[in-house]
Amino acid sequence: MAEFSIIETYFNRQRASKQVDLGIGDDSAVLSPPAHHQLVICADTLVAGRHFPINTPAHAIGWKAVAVNLSDIAAMAAKPHSILLALSMPTVDHDWLQGFSDGLYACCERYGVQLIGGDTTQNPHLSLTVTAMGWIEHGKAVLRSGAQVGDLIVVSGRIGDAAFALQHPGHPLQKRLDYPTPRCELGLQLQGLASSMIDISDGLVQDLGHILAASRVGAQVELNQLPIDPHLQSLAEKLRWQYALAGGDDYELCFTISQENYQKLLALQPQVTTSVIGHIQAQPGLSFTLNGKAQPLQLHGYQHFA
Ligand code: ADP
Ligand code: MG
Repeated sequence: MAEFSIIETYFNRQRASKQVDLGIGDDSAVLSPPAHHQLVICADTLVAGRHFPINTPAHAIGWKAVAVNLSDIAAMAAKPHSILLALSMPTVDHDWLQGFSDGLYACCERYGVQLIGGDTTQNPHLSLTVTAMGWIEHGKAVLRSGAQVGDLIVVSGRIGDAAFALQHPGHPLQKRLDYPTPRCELGLQLQGLASSMIDISDGLVQDLGHILAASRVGAQVELNQLPIDPHLQSLAEKLRWQYALAGGDDYELCFTISQENYQKLLALQPQVTTSVIGHIQAQPGLSFTLNGKAQPLQLHGYQHFA
């Protein structure tokens, strides 16, 4: 099957969309950005066996390839708009392509995003790169570098589920690994409220660490405040914290916010729960408390930073 008929069959579900003057079919897509907005753009690659288990259903791979990118757009407080898909696959497997494209479009529809172009190549190893684009009013992007001493540290949803599911295939939490839910609505609500933000893809400790480094501040986190799914509550404390802090694949938002602005956020009644897990302090580094008492932690799989 030729490249153009793959595209025609699986990746050309056009729908009218604002700002898309020309979608799939020409050498490039053509967009008209809304007035007074900036383009926010990112890319993430998923490699089979590396970023998802080889036996992951095609539908989930399609969803996840889009979702992980929309999570990066949400983490800037931007509104997602469109994606490009670069697909490398070993063979033309129609069942796989049907499942994959259904999953990809399901995520696009959920978040109001349009596939506007891409590239299709043959390669011995399955690999997918999605580029996501979004808009933000000029100057309104929430960066990693804005955390202020005294700010609250807040995370959305629950953390650790995906890492736990990776070790327990078939568990009810498997859907949290296969179908991450980028917090696009919350990200938008945080525009003008959060002082810094990141999405949690590599585990809270590592990603919060990026905020601390960029903002040149430190943090204290209370372990009892971590939002952990009831399924993980029966695990030994250390193991639970390991999943929640260093697991990865959460695709929740971690942000810093003043007490006052957090009240404003709550008044907006976000769809997803948010949990205050600690605060920003001047003293560099990340320290943990358990019920208010200092709790040194040894986590596997990452280098603790000072
Ligand atoms: P070119 O050779 O000019 O790069 P292609 O033949 O690769 O063009 O692509 C033709 C059209 O199909 C382009 O509009 C391109 O963006 C789109 N396209 C190619 N592969 C994909 C894909 N996997 N998903 C979505 N659009 C694609
Ligand atoms: Mg061309």
